[in-house]
Amino acid sequence: MICVPLGVGDAFSERHYSTSFAVLSDGVDLLIDCPHPMRRMLHAADLSARRFAGVILTHLHGDHVSGLESFAFFNYFVLKQRLKIIACPAVLDALWPRHLAVSMERLRRADGAWVQMRFEDYFEPIALQPGARYALNGLEIELRETIHHIPTTAVKIYEQGRCLGYSADTTFDLSLIEWLSEANLIFHETNYGTHTAYQSLKGLDASLRARMRLVHYPDDFAHEGEILTAKAGQRDVV
Ligand SMILES: [Zn+2]
Repeated sequence: MICVPLGVGDAFSERHYSTSFAVLSDGVDLLIDCPHPMRRMLHAADLSARRFAGVILTHLHGDHVSGLESFAFFNYFVLKQRLKIIACPAVLDALWPRHLAVSMERLRRADGAWVQMRFEDYFEPIALQPGARYALNGLEIELRETIHHIPTTAVKIYEQGRCLGYSADTTFDLSLIEWLSEANLIFHETNYGTHTAYQSLKGLDASLRARMRLVHYPDDFAHEGEILTAKAGQRDVV
């Protein structure tokens, strides 16, 4: 399994695309989160947008989901396929009625006729309860709730005895870090306010810090080197 960070910045960044990932495996390729401009971000990472079967969606803040409309339209009109959306029920249930429907629920055909569209016309929704595992073409995916403004889940993905972990947006939470700690490679957020302070992560065990890469950091992040920052476009072998 290979994980390619597509962006490493936060919602306000002038320097980086928003934090998101491409996960490449033998059986299936997925995105973790889908900020705008996803196709541009994939191109910058030398990846084709055509290869992705779906998106694991951590939560509905714009810097994680703002590219989903365009990416789904691309899949619908160009690739003629539905995009799998893997998310916890709280995220999945709100995605269409409270986020996407306003711009996607009606299409106008070339002959002027209106077509009423449903969530399932564009997407194959997969509701994954936190703690349960979903198997997909050799991958197993597990979610866990984090502490954030709105419903949000961290992610672990398993393949052939290896494990990738991503904290998603969260307050510093030792129980979450314990949950992530089995992963061979862990992407963890750091930022201001209710996010995870870098000072807290610096105090973690050295073996854990060695497997950790920082994402979602602010442009003025005063990085001191104890934990490596993730690099957009870099292929990290899990
Ligand atoms: Zn957020």
